[in-house]
Amino acid sequence: MKLGIVGTGMVGSAAAYAIASTGVISSLVLIDHDPALASAQAADIADALPFIGAVSIRAGDYADLEGAGIVVLAAGVAQKPGESRLDLLSRNTVIFADVIAQVQAIAPDAILLVATNPVDIMTAVTTKLSGLDPARVIGSGTILDTARFRVNLGRHLGVSPQSVHAHVLGEHGDSEVLIWSSAECGAMRLEVFASQRGCPITESLRADIDGAVRHAAQKIISGKGATWFGIGAALARIVRVIVLDQREILTVSSMTKEIAGVQNVCLSLPRILGAGGIEETLVPAMTQNETTSLGESARLLKNATDALWQVRDA
Ligand code: NAD
Repeated sequence: MKLGIVGTGMVGSAAAYAIASTGVISSLVLIDHDPALASAQAADIADALPFIGAVSIRAGDYADLEGAGIVVLAAGVAQKPGESRLDLLSRNTVIFADVIAQVQAIAPDAILLVATNPVDIMTAVTTKLSGLDPARVIGSGTILDTARFRVNLGRHLGVSPQSVHAHVLGEHGDSEVLIWSSAECGAMRLEVFASQRGCPITESLRADIDGAVRHAAQKIISGKGATWFGIGAALARIVRVIVLDQREILTVSSMTKEIAGVQNVCLSLPRILGAGGIEETLVPAMTQNETTSLGESARLLKNATDALWQVRDA
């Protein structure tokens, strides 16, 4: 399958490298507003190919996306000093309007995989502007937050995160919700497993893990200015699942008809991913508090998205 990446800064290039390593893509096309950057990223990754795998990689323009099955959208601009979040969103929406029109003119059926932040709102923007079936517009959402939750729990329990099943739902951001009530390890309820291991789940542990997951990105950003390896690998996982039709359950963002009393909002829920994109969305059993928090997260995203359209329509 041919795959395109639009926006080849830190996130786009990390995704390109990770996707090249999966071996499931035959051809990678890198596109950026800055063609010299896209060419340099393609050349640098091409140097790694003799060591990591065989894929054709090149910088190109939109015409080179002909036949692409997936296009990753990682283009964006950084917040200017003093700029409001809504102004930044508006600028990124202008960029997306141009990018999506150009992608769809040449690859109308490609699945669009959104990484640009705020990813839930940019997924809503992409769904609206593309007019695609929402199943084919996927935001990376809380896939990384869920991985961090599982890693933190696995560390506490002294087991591989692969043996831990737990989800972070809602916004990829401050209002995200760690779903503790359905967390499991080794097919046992989290609390039961933890008590048998002699490392109980205390309130202070919950608070520590919640903080570590919720503020993980800020911690990295304070040290190196941005994050890219984690999201690059997460995007590669999504690509692999789609290309191989693996039907894995991942917490990704997508337009959701109704959740916790909020209609038509993009946020993360557990979703079965396969060749067609999002094959199905699941709503896990939650406590009343978790449902309330998820509803608040959904409402916040819905209000921000509505505010964006009001600015655009004005
Ligand atoms: P970056 O500035 O390094 O790269 C952005 C790239 O987009 C630049 O190379 C720029 O030239 C390009 N670009 C801008 N306008 C364009 C246009 N019209 N057409 C094509 N390319 C265009 O930024 P980054 O660190 O790579 O981050 C990219 C986005 O990913 C940001 O919005 C960031 O917040 C987001 N991000 C998301 C997650 C996540 O979990 N979803 C994690 C980290 C970063």
